Amino acid sequence: MKHHYEAIIVGAGGAGLYAALEASKTAKTAVLSKLYPVRSHTGTAQGGIGAALGNVEEDRPEWHAFDTIKGGDYLTDQKAAQILVEEAVEAVYHLENLGLPFSRTSEGKIDQRRFGGHTRNFGEAPVRRSCYAADRTGHMILQTLYQQCIKNKVAFFDEFFVLDVLIDGKKCNGVVAMELATGEIHTFQSKAVLFATGGFGRIYRITSNAYASTGDAPAVLARAGVPMEDMEFFQFHPTGIYGMGILITEAVRGEGGVLLNRNGDRLMEEYAPALLDLAPRDLISRAIITEIKKGNGIRGDKKIDDYVYLDATRIGKEVIEKKLPDIAGFCRTYLGIDPAEKPIPVQPTAHYAMGGIPTDIMGRVLASGGGDIYEGLYAAGECACISVHGANRLGTNSLVDLIVYGRRAGAEMARFVKEADFGSMPASADEQARKKINALFTGKKGKSRGDIATRMQEIMMEKVGVFRTGEEMKRAITDIRRIREEFNDVRVEDTGKRFNTELLEVLELENLLDIAYLTAVAAKNRTETRGAHSRMDFPERDDKKWLKHSLIWLDGEKYKIGYRDVDISLYKPKARTY
Ligand SMILES: Cc1cc2nc3c(=O)[nH]c(=O)nc-3n(C[C@H](O)[C@H](O)[C@H](O)COP(=O)(O)OP(=O)(O)OC[C@H]3O[C@@H](n4cnc5c(N)ncnc54)[C@H](O)[C@@H]3O)c2cc1C
Repeated sequence: MKHHYEAIIVGAGGAGLYAALEASKTAKTAVLSKLYPVRSHTGTAQGGIGAALGNVEEDRPEWHAFDTIKGGDYLTDQKAAQILVEEAVEAVYHLENLGLPFSRTSEGKIDQRRFGGHTRNFGEAPVRRSCYAADRTGHMILQTLYQQCIKNKVAFFDEFFVLDVLIDGKKCNGVVAMELATGEIHTFQSKAVLFATGGFGRIYRITSNAYASTGDAPAVLARAGVPMEDMEFFQFHPTGIYGMGILITEAVRGEGGVLLNRNGDRLMEEYAPALLDLAPRDLISRAIITEIKKGNGIRGDKKIDDYVYLDATRIGKEVIEKKLPDIAGFCRTYLGIDPAEKPIPVQPTAHYAMGGIPTDIMGRVLASGGGDIYEGLYAAGECACISVHGANRLGTNSLVDLIVYGRRAGAEMARFVKEADFGSMPASADEQARKKINALFTGKKGKSRGDIATRMQEIMMEKVGVFRTGEEMKRAITDIRRIREEFNDVRVEDTGKRFNTELLEVLELENLLDIAYLTAVAAKNRTETRGAHSRMDFPERDDKKWLKHSLIWLDGEKYKIGYRDVDISLYKPKARTY
């Protein structure tokens, strides 16, 4: 089946919905999503959205910009960060006007709480900057934006899986998708396409990310010749539930929770004496693993010391039930404990991709380090790299990124489609997608999808995790190459058309393998330690050689590496202490 829309948006998380809301003001807009929109991962965001409203204490956007840049270990593009923090304030009030039920102060203003790395007066002390709706902020954002999109008559293609992008030279003409309910292949012709498919934490074994976070757009675009930026930077959040990776929001520490080692000591006193448990995530994840290696971890059921405690008992039952009700529920459901009474066993969990599809500040996808762009091709949200998060994202800054840059990209699309024409669409536009699916249904079944996925996740966890070395990453690259080859023998046993989830998982695995490969290759290439990329064999940050973004092009088994300058026009890089 064929469809025509001026603007196509792939992904119905916060970024996709905000872009759709903006684009649909003037353009005929459709949203394609493999999930029902409000099931997108944005809905799990607990902690909040950062904006210098100054509702509870003095705050300023320039302090927020500084924290974002320093938090990103000076790989953040500084003007992009400035736009982020300045437009954050207006964006939060816009969400309020659209009906988002924020938690309130006693005077009725939007309440704000502390979060890691967010400080007053350029690093003096933690500041209350995170606007929140209990611990359901993301859920409320999705509900609010989805309602508004329906009101704006955006066409939704729910449970459509995008398999391919149609790029002619440097112009994007549409996408090809499979309707999950029927297995039918659809072609969508458009003047502009925006990808907002979220993160790819599923390349790791322990992750906070939903099953659907499989990096589909970065993989589809990488196979179409688009470079990926800063793939070596993947953030581990310090507090995932032990053994499961399910996230315990930083807001627990923002409200007064602390990390304890086996001796009952506050371990962050040693690693970040000023900000303690509210230091940035890269630093705390490293501190936890270092403590465990020193023998100060707590003994898990594998009889090794492999987690620490997050003590929320000191927050008090009343505050927990009012401000962190979902977290309390998770602890009861998954651990059988009440966090107001017992400490929570936690370990670092793969959480957020700083890298992804390179874009400019209007969301246009970059074709090289020189600033040339693809016409009609956009990206926003976690799958994009603007780069506002540099080498390490601060908590609450992703939700800001979604709404500020989702909105900017949507507005730019609307402007662009007014003057652009539909590109040509050959009759064979869906041929590649059909061939791929046919091949998965025919031939002898070789390798098991599940086995390949587990091996990939183990390799990434052990060799391209919190601490990295060149030797281990070299092995990871060889191993992932091998399993990418084995993937060629994977076949789908269930040949049914309706809701073929096995086929979906195989297609997602192909994407994950490509992303894991790009991540490992980019990580091995960067011989320094910066933000979330921590190399034991190169423990220092090296601004002389590495103050630059990496770009990586995928070409089957081969790859090509290039670079892009970092914008440091506001603050000169300094040592990063907390
Ligand atoms: C547990 C958790 C808690 C978090 N808490 C916070 C927080 O408090 N504050 C904060 O700032 N950040 C937080 N983050 C990070 C933040 O929530 C995410 O980075 C952000 O929500 C990603 O939004 P997105 O719009 O880019 O993508 P998502 O919300 O992940 O949505 C992706 C969309 O793309 C669609 N899609 C994907 N692939 C395809 C395909 N092939 N075809 C069609 N559609 C496709 C999906 O259906 C979905 O609609 C948290 C993340 C997690 C995992």
